[in-house]
Amino acid sequence: MKKYTIAIIGAGPGGYVAAVRAAQLGAKVCLVEKERVGGTCLHRGCIPSKSYICSAKALKNVREAGLFGVEVGGEAKPDLGKIRERTQRIISNLENGIQHLLKSNGIEVINGEASLASTQKIRIDGGEGSRTDIESEKIIIAAGSSPAPLPAFQGIDVLTTDTVFNMEGIPSSLAIIGGGVVGCEFASIFSGFGSEVTILELESRLLPGEDPEIVKILEREFKKKKIKLLCGVKVVKAEERDGRKALCLEGGKEIEAEKILVSVGRRPNSSGLGLEGIGIALDPKGNIIVNERMETSVAGVYAIGDITGKWLLAHAASKEGIVAVENAMGFQSVMDYSAVPSAVFCDPEIGSVGLSIQDAEKKGFRVKTGTFSTRMLGKAQVTNELAGEVRLTIEEGSERLLGARIIGPYASELIHEAALAVSKGLTVRDMGETVHSHPTFSEAIMEAAWAGYKTSIHGGK
Ligand code: FAD
Repeated sequence: MKKYTIAIIGAGPGGYVAAVRAAQLGAKVCLVEKERVGGTCLHRGCIPSKSYICSAKALKNVREAGLFGVEVGGEAKPDLGKIRERTQRIISNLENGIQHLLKSNGIEVINGEASLASTQKIRIDGGEGSRTDIESEKIIIAAGSSPAPLPAFQGIDVLTTDTVFNMEGIPSSLAIIGGGVVGCEFASIFSGFGSEVTILELESRLLPGEDPEIVKILEREFKKKKIKLLCGVKVVKAEERDGRKALCLEGGKEIEAEKILVSVGRRPNSSGLGLEGIGIALDPKGNIIVNERMETSVAGVYAIGDITGKWLLAHAASKEGIVAVENAMGFQSVMDYSAVPSAVFCDPEIGSVGLSIQDAEKKGFRVKTGTFSTRMLGKAQVTNELAGEVRLTIEEGSERLLGARIIGPYASELIHEAALAVSKGLTVRDMGETVHSHPTFSEAIMEAAWAGYKTSIHGGK
């Protein structure tokens, strides 16, 4: 039986990054993957969705070219076949890159479905009856998550994020169930492609959990794009009617659409891994319970990424992978989520890091905000991207930045300035004193920092 220092189950952004770090630290590493390296992120998540978003953006730019004094002949139209082809090319390029990285670090990749036979043994079923057993001193579980199903839809042909990228035509109308991050991104994509989009959300607003002021701006911009928002509604049943789908809502209202996309969250891929057999503790939703060192309840077995149900973000999974490996190799490492940024790549984009005003107040901080509207920037005027706002959460007295919320162009990029400030304990004065290039969207962060700092001066400091 082959023996390794570290064996990792799942080659998504958690697993493959962990494998590379382990090899760099001198471990003999085995990475087991039942499908393709890259995981959800590369094949059904981050990358294909951002590729579609870029196509929707390209279409918008062409359609708005006249505003910039540029004449474009003929009607600009999306071609989903070509968008899919482009997306597949990007995925293959990135997949080749990961394979090369794994090979050049001497990592053995085994294709097959892994389950734990004991705390140091993994059984790998490779299909057609083939089976490999391996032994490893330490094991990291990075098996990810899958779209959560809706019981109301059994027997009805609905799209999930696993199938939406195989869709061949652009639907005339699309009902999206779930107004979270993924629902908002797909609403931007398909409304950009010309579908009539309706979002149905159980909570009273989109992106529950996000700063309400930011969500207000998003909802306003979505409405301008004619995206219909039905918040505070519960879908109780779905039916097929003459090639269309009908959604029955609690209270009797009905919505019809050509296609339905269900994006109501994810569930961990924890069944079938043999976890119960070796006593790994799960929470009631099936997520593997881990501590800040990414250790499970069983010594020598770690879990990272979506299967822990914590942050459900690719970069969080990667960082957790590094933490798990460092601990497995005898170093001391803990996972700190206080400055992990997140982004919603809809139009307009949203970037968040650290505490929102509401979170900070709940935690007992004395806080104030520094805000700045993107509309006032020279850059926003020249690019004609006016909607947006920066909202900083500042600790009263120390002037330390506790968090930031940005909505508007490039928010997913701009948020990293705030992430650096939160992670290094910088003050809004530090941020305001840092000279920012003109004309840029980054100036909004500097202005929001000064706005927040001035508030305290006016408050008598
Ligand atoms: P995964 O990426 O799910 O990888 C797990 C791997 O384990 C899979 O390849 C699977 O085949 C394999 N596996 C499972 N069971 C076994 C087994 N028994 N044996 C062997 N292999 C197994 N996050 C972001 O940060 N930014 C984004 O823009 C973003 N966009 C997203 C868009 C969509 C539509 C979706 C669905 C998700 C998006 N995410 C995004 C979330 C991101 O994809 C996940 O958080 C990330 O992929 C989790 O990484 P992971 O390594 O934990 O799991």
